Amino acid sequence: MDRESLYHRLPICVQDAVCSFVGWRIQRSRFGESFRRHLVAAEQRQQWPLERLLEFRDQRLRQFVRHAAATVPYYQSQFREGGIDPERIRTIDDLQRLPLLSKTTIQQHLRDFISTAVSPRTYRMVHTSGTTGAGLRFPTTLAAIWEQWAVWWRFRRRHGIRQDMWCGYFGGRSVVPVRQTEPPYWRTNWPGRQFLFSGYHLSAATAGAYIDQLNRCRPPWLHGYPSALALLADQILRGNRPLEYCPTHITVGAESLHSHQSVMIEKAFGVRPWNNYGMTEATANISECIHGRLHVDEDIAALEFLPMDGRICRIVGTNFTNYATPFLRYDVGDLAEMDDTPCECGLAGRTVRAIDGRAEDYVILRNGARVGRMDHIFKDMTTVREAQIVQGEPGELTVRVSRNPGYSADDEAALQQSFHKFLGDQARIHLEYVERIPRSKSGKFRFVVSQESQAARTAD
Ligand SMILES: [Zn+2]
Repeated sequence: MDRESLYHRLPICVQDAVCSFVGWRIQRSRFGESFRRHLVAAEQRQQWPLERLLEFRDQRLRQFVRHAAATVPYYQSQFREGGIDPERIRTIDDLQRLPLLSKTTIQQHLRDFISTAVSPRTYRMVHTSGTTGAGLRFPTTLAAIWEQWAVWWRFRRRHGIRQDMWCGYFGGRSVVPVRQTEPPYWRTNWPGRQFLFSGYHLSAATAGAYIDQLNRCRPPWLHGYPSALALLADQILRGNRPLEYCPTHITVGAESLHSHQSVMIEKAFGVRPWNNYGMTEATANISECIHGRLHVDEDIAALEFLPMDGRICRIVGTNFTNYATPFLRYDVGDLAEMDDTPCECGLAGRTVRAIDGRAEDYVILRNGARVGRMDHIFKDMTTVREAQIVQGEPGELTVRVSRNPGYSADDEAALQQSFHKFLGDQARIHLEYVERIPRSKSGKFRFVVSQESQAARTAD
């Protein structure tokens, strides 16, 4: 039996104790003295002028590429076979000499990505989730973890969040057994000051219990997946239960934050959500400033924006902190819309207008065309709680709709019409009404899923 199954069999009070024990260990290893040093350094870099910041980035990039070429088997052969001299990669622009790296390549050759110069005794294993359930587990170093958390806490502190604040966490941690059908749908991590709310149990039917608990424990800071906080916000606005206090801060991450979600969250909780875009691979980080603009954190990774369609670009990132498993030119799979007007906040570096969802959030039409950015169809439909598109054969789309009270035949007709307007005769739309949109294995909301990946998950 694995550790997770064992945990799920424990009584709730023991599960609380386990969450606190794990929380205590995380506090000790992740947020010790070394972390504080990294945080001070990261906050100082925030004051630097652009030239100094970019020189810092490129200098770390050079050192990192040299390390990868000398000690990482995958890059040793790539540089040798491609005739690439690592010394010629001096700035972010020189990275174009290297091919792009996909998650699939890493999954297939993971052992070859691990540096022979870093002792396994100093590794920390981390994992990321995949859209089809195929995740990635790879070693990183404590120094890389401190640097990443320093950048994340710099973002939070920018918005006034303190490390000793209690947090209501709405993410993908599986702290409550799926078979549990009664509250409490949360556990407590005392040393980490977190109320861990289960994203897997949150639905219109259970939201009342979550709101009651928020009213009882009143965490000043809420953090989590935008889809979870938006679902809760929707229930508050519909009068499921009144929220009897106002949190002072909300931060979101791990999924795209859509503007209608942001509006709903602010309306329900009285405070706007701030967005931080980051990932365990630490190959890219983009965070929102106090003026609501998205700034590239130039000092944690070398980000390239590869043009796709007008201002829309693919995000490609080269990390330079994880010396155990270097990833160069990692195609993250996300899209960003570029912005070239400077921000008044004074932070140096590039800005993006929006992080525009995942590159794979497109549907395939009968004629083979790929169409993305479909979420705006649902933007003004207040009677739709959530929606997801399931891609079958080309041109065959099932739209799963979770309805709010008041959804009528008119809404159904309007929805069909919007799809027809957008896709013409190139797609057939089947509407399927569901109580709740299923989440991915990691608890994330995915807007477009393929029928095969759904079938694969059911078979797991
Ligand atoms: Zn700014």
